[in-house]
Amino acid sequence: MIPTPQTRVRSFVPVDPESHFPLENLPYGIFSPTPAEPPRAGVRIGDHVLDLSVIEDSGLLASAGLPWATFSQPVLNRFMELPADQRRFARVLIQGLLREDEPTLRDDPVLRARALLPAASVTMRVPAAIRDYTDFYSSKEHATNVGIMFRGKDNALMPNWVHLPVGYHGRASSVVVSGTDIVRPSGQSLPPGAEAPVFGPSKRVDFELEMGFLVSLPSDLGRPVPVAEAMDHIFGLVLVNDWSARDIQPWEYQPLGPFTAKNFGTSISPWVVPLEALEPFACDAPVQEPEPLPYLREPERRTYDINLEVAVTAGDGGETLTVCRSNFKHLYWTMAQQLTHHTVTGCNLGTGDLMASGTISGSDPGSFGSLLEITWRGERPLEFPGGARRTFLEDHDAVTMTGWCQGDGYRVGFGEVAGRILPAFGEVR
Ligand code: MN
Repeated sequence: MIPTPQTRVRSFVPVDPESHFPLENLPYGIFSPTPAEPPRAGVRIGDHVLDLSVIEDSGLLASAGLPWATFSQPVLNRFMELPADQRRFARVLIQGLLREDEPTLRDDPVLRARALLPAASVTMRVPAAIRDYTDFYSSKEHATNVGIMFRGKDNALMPNWVHLPVGYHGRASSVVVSGTDIVRPSGQSLPPGAEAPVFGPSKRVDFELEMGFLVSLPSDLGRPVPVAEAMDHIFGLVLVNDWSARDIQPWEYQPLGPFTAKNFGTSISPWVVPLEALEPFACDAPVQEPEPLPYLREPERRTYDINLEVAVTAGDGGETLTVCRSNFKHLYWTMAQQLTHHTVTGCNLGTGDLMASGTISGSDPGSFGSLLEITWRGERPLEFPGGARRTFLEDHDAVTMTGWCQGDGYRVGFGEVAGRILPAFGEVR
């Protein structure tokens, strides 16, 4: 085991070194203590959830001057839209209450019993009112791989790709929290060699390993957000699985982009890791060649070093195989560039908007972030050690993604985003 540096401040709540949720993290989420109780906000610490509505009601956050009942809302938006300084101050207060050397909560058994709940006993919800969802396509490796498969090697990367962060406006209504089952979509596809399309359940349901950010401060319609200010509009990050139907997608996507192949479900992890918790893991983003146009040029190109993994479970209770190890830092376009490009026309941001990265693939096959790439369109099936084989996802297969920053003796992590495929509507369940 790696020794823990003496300088770290610990919590009185026990936190395992492998835990994603030490005092340095404190991600925000929305939960119900029991399924019948109204949702409210909390932070995760180790295997516990601190109910922030109880803490706020007790007057322990009064000096932050939060709007009334900020943490009793069923979404985080009222908190997310506050100025960054106010949010940071509230976070310092919350962190202080959980410190091992702070008696207020530690030595108050009544308050502890009301406010500190076992994470395994609560029900997590979608953390924000997500009014709009945009999905980018910011991994050069992923865009190149998909381009080769859909259009051939010579037209793999479209000429615009190195000049702007390509994206499409996705569907917010079908963004669901981790643990929600996904019904296999039906739709049109054009079988190889066929002249006319067919209709039926997708035979090529896939995952996409992504991360996404939630917008904090809104912006005004008509006013672009300069790239130097872009990070001021970002609250925090979640893991994203952008479920995709690979047989529907190539038939429908031209000329206006993805549509029903992408709108049947997008899963996100329940805990939103604020930018403050990621700051120690900032690193350089890839050098861009050619240099982008001036409005996309960043004084410093920074991103975050976030390890990512994907595991597939073959059927209910079946064996699980890790199929991808990647890293957020591989992305060619940064979050700041994505956000700035999104608003360059004057398009306005809303608090709670979700912007996802696009599939995060690295350069070697073990780091590909979708089955489309891992099995190369189904040509190289995944072989599970126990004998299961997969090209794309079958009914009752589950996908679990996880991500974490590795500190010295601790992790700042995202937990997981998991989901399972159910048979298509109208089929036997
Ligand atoms: Mn995607």
